[in-house]
This record gives sequence, C-alpha cells and structure tokens, in this order.
Amino acid sequence: MSQSVMEVQVHESMFDAVLARLNAAAKLMNLSDEVLQVLRNPQKEVKVSLPITMDSGKIQIFEGYRTVHSTHLGPSKGGIRFAMDVNSDEVRALAAWMSFKCAVANLPYGGAKGGIKCDPRNMSVGELERLSRAYAKAMKEVIGVNKDIPAPDMGTSGREMAWMLDEYNKVMGEDIPGVITGKPIAIGGSLGRDAATGRGVMVNTLAALKRLNLNPKNVTAIVQGFGNVGSHAARLLSEQGVKIVGIGDHTASFYNEKGIDIKAALDFAAKNNKVLKGFTGATEIKASELLVSACDVLVPAALQNVITEENASKIQAKLIVEGANGPTTPQADPILNEKGIICVPDILANSGGVTVSYFEWVQNKAGYYWTEDEVNQKHDLKMEIAFEAIWNNASKYKCSMRLAAYITALQRIEQAVKFKGFY
Ligand code: GLU
Repeated sequence: MSQSVMEVQVHESMFDAVLARLNAAAKLMNLSDEVLQVLRNPQKEVKVSLPITMDSGKIQIFEGYRTVHSTHLGPSKGGIRFAMDVNSDEVRALAAWMSFKCAVANLPYGGAKGGIKCDPRNMSVGELERLSRAYAKAMKEVIGVNKDIPAPDMGTSGREMAWMLDEYNKVMGEDIPGVITGKPIAIGGSLGRDAATGRGVMVNTLAALKRLNLNPKNVTAIVQGFGNVGSHAARLLSEQGVKIVGIGDHTASFYNEKGIDIKAALDFAAKNNKVLKGFTGATEIKASELLVSACDVLVPAALQNVITEENASKIQAKLIVEGANGPTTPQADPILNEKGIICVPDILANSGGVTVSYFEWVQNKAGYYWTEDEVNQKHDLKMEIAFEAIWNNASKYKCSMRLAAYITALQRIEQAVKFKGFY
C-alpha cells in the first residue's frame, strides 16, 4: 500500500481533536460551563464482543461499538463503520461530530456513531451478513426508532443496513423501518439518499464559490476518495461545470490539468471492483501529491487526518470542502487560516447524508414516499440555509467557518440542554 492515502495519515486522539475545537468555539461564544461539561462527556458508550463463524468453520471474535454522544435535540443519529482502525476513541469523536452535524443542519437529532473493527474487503458476503446481524442483535437495547438511529458509514452500505434492519425486526417481532436509514429503496430507503452526501458537498461548494465571486465553470477541483461520497461529489461538481483535475482512492491517484472525464472514471471503477487502479484517463501520481497539486477547490472525501501540519502549507486550493469526517487536524487549521484558505468544515459540508437520512426517517414514519426531485429540492434548500447561517456566524464572530459551524451547533444544543434541565 505504498502509494495509498494511508501514507499521510497521522495517529492522534480524534476525540482530543474534537475537544480542541469544542473548547475554542465555547470560549468565543461564551458557552455556559455546565453545557460544555455535558458535551465533553458522551452520554452512553457500549462495547460488545461478537463471536462469528467464519467460512473456514473457525470462530472469530469481533469488537463492536456504539457511542451515543447526545440526545438533547432528539434521538441520536449516526452511521456504523466497518474498518480496521475502529476503536472507542474514534467512535466517540465521530459520535460527537454527529451531534454537531445534526445541529448545524437543524435536524431534530442528537449524535451517535457505531463501528466494528474488521476488514470488510477481506470478508465474504456470508461473514459480513453474520457480523451485521450479530451487531444489530447485540445493540437491540441501544438502537430504536425514537432512540438511536444508525445508517451507513465507511465500509458499510444499504446491504448491511438491510441485514441489520431485518435482524432488529425479527428480535422486536414487528416491522420498524425507521430504526435504520440508508436502506435499499425496496425496503423503505429514500430516493436520493445514496448520492446525498456528495450532493451536499456540491451544494456547499457552489454556495462558497458564489460568496468568493468565482464562476464554477472557471474553477478546477481535486477530489480525494472515490467511494460513496467522493464519486458522487466529483460527478455532481463536474455536472455543474467544475473541471475535475485530480481524483484518487486507496488504490491509486490521478491528475490531468485538462480535466478528467468523471463519467469514464465511474464506468471504469464500476467494472474494476469499485477501485481506480489502472484508470488511463489521467497521469498516475503519488497519493501524497494529490492534496497538494494545483487546483481551486480541494475535496478530501476519504479518510480522517489527511490535511496535517506537514502538508497544509503546500496546499494550493483557495477553498477546501470536507467530504470526509475529520480530514483536517487541529494543528493544520491555523496554517490554512493563515494562508487565507476558506474551509467548509465536515460538520457542514458532509451533512447532506444525514439530512436525507432524516427525510428517510420522516417518510418511514409517515408511510408516504417522496419523489427524488422532492428529496433533492428539500435537501438543497436545507444545505443552503445551513451554509448561510455558518457564513454569517463566521463574519459575526470573526472566525473560521469551522469555528462558526461549532458555534452555530452549540447555540442550538445549549438551548435544548437548558430547557430540558438537569437532575
Ligand atoms: N455516516 C454518515 C455521516 O457521517 C451518515 C449518518 C446518517 O445518515 O445518520 O454523516
């Protein structure tokens, strides 16, 4: 994996990174100390051990996690990831980000996250199904349609959500589709959910370009990550006239200053085990070069901790739109600010996914389903309103968009914590 994006990953406590931003925003907006203490400590953390029969006949034990960070604005919401680096610190950080993300998008949700430490690329479909079902059963007391609502995240998709929902329904003895979002359409999923996170990245990019007085048709972009978020973001941005000059995934990275044909890249990946290795529509470059190559807009849509104090000063983009969760370390933030790079932070930029998850939950509760156009229109409007609120708070508090997003979220959560009160 020498040319992988893993090269630039830095290992540090992700929850500390969340607390660093939380403290900075709390100070700027004068958040009350008791609310800060509440939000520094997740509400509930559950770890389970899942013994699974592997295809070899041997039993392997997997660690499963679910952390509920907050439920002040509503039931907790957040994805479940399957990845080898899943651990309690990471899940805790991602759960807290979900609280802030849902508040930024003005959704009636708190935040949670789950994960299983496993390598889904090296597991059979049968093993993944048994693992997904075992997790849903083990977490039956944690999740609930008005309690805690999972969704896909890294390494999971509608397929795993379908298994988990089916298992949960069997255990409960009734059909409760709204307990999990990001489901396949046939079992109560929402049209538009699959592309929603990428769509949110596109809407946020257009809103930022407008504020910067840049015409999307004269702008170039690099998108790191070609999974559910990056591939849709690259496609939707190119449909808006943005010239995509760089793309990459965990197998290979590419650059072409004349622009990459995204449709050709999507067709290639579809026939190539969903990866870009071997694509010939651009020059292959090192993964570490992708983020620092020439472009106007940089979209990190793969992993956390890829923009660090080592490479931040070399970034050439004017605008960063964070498709991934936590792609920028707190140490890199001041370097970007100093260079005048505008960064649309993850909790705003990638909130399109959970926004359409919310629409899915609303449709499940009503038992009435919307057209894709209805979903997209409602999504775009919500994203535009969220972007404006953060942009305005950034100028009001004279701070970065990241801190402004935290401030916006904290203002909403603070009210809820205070109204609900303490023992
Ligand atoms: N896993 C996605 C995220 O990090 C979606 C969460 C959801 O839809 O609940 O935002």
